[in-house]
Amino acid sequence: MSEVVFTGACLCGAVRFEARGAPRLVNHCHCLQCQRQSGAAMVTWATWPRAALRVLAGAPADFESSPGVKRSFCPRCGSTLFWRRERERAARAEEEIDVAAGTLDEADRLTPADHIYVKSRRRWMPLCDGLPAYFEHRLKQ
Ligand SMILES: [Zn+2]
Ligand SMILES: [Zn+2]
Repeated sequence: MSEVVFTGACLCGAVRFEARGAPRLVNHCHCLQCQRQSGAAMVTWATWPRAALRVLAGAPADFESSPGVKRSFCPRCGSTLFWRRERERAARAEEEIDVAAGTLDEADRLTPADHIYVKSRRRWMPLCDGLPAYFEHRLKQ
């Protein structure tokens, strides 16, 4: 039985990684932190169990963007790579990691579920895919 494997890399290729299995969730995040970090209007994140992700080359750098939240990027080219929470009441969140979908070799294989943090969506970034859109996080309405 062959397992689905997603491979990915940063812009310069120094960081390469793979994620095994299908992601648990894929969403488009319009929050201001994602906008600042990526320089884009939103970031599409694919969530895997942390144990499914393996860095094959390079060493991503971390930036603590909120208490307990680490955003990883390539120290050479700056590509947005991963998002993870180190401290969370819900134990499951500590076991997960989000991968910036644009770094995946075959991002077309993903199926986004929804939009989050549309409270900070840019006016020129229309929502026209019919997916659910949440003001903030989907758990907090
Ligand atoms: Zn790089
Ligand atoms: Zn965000």
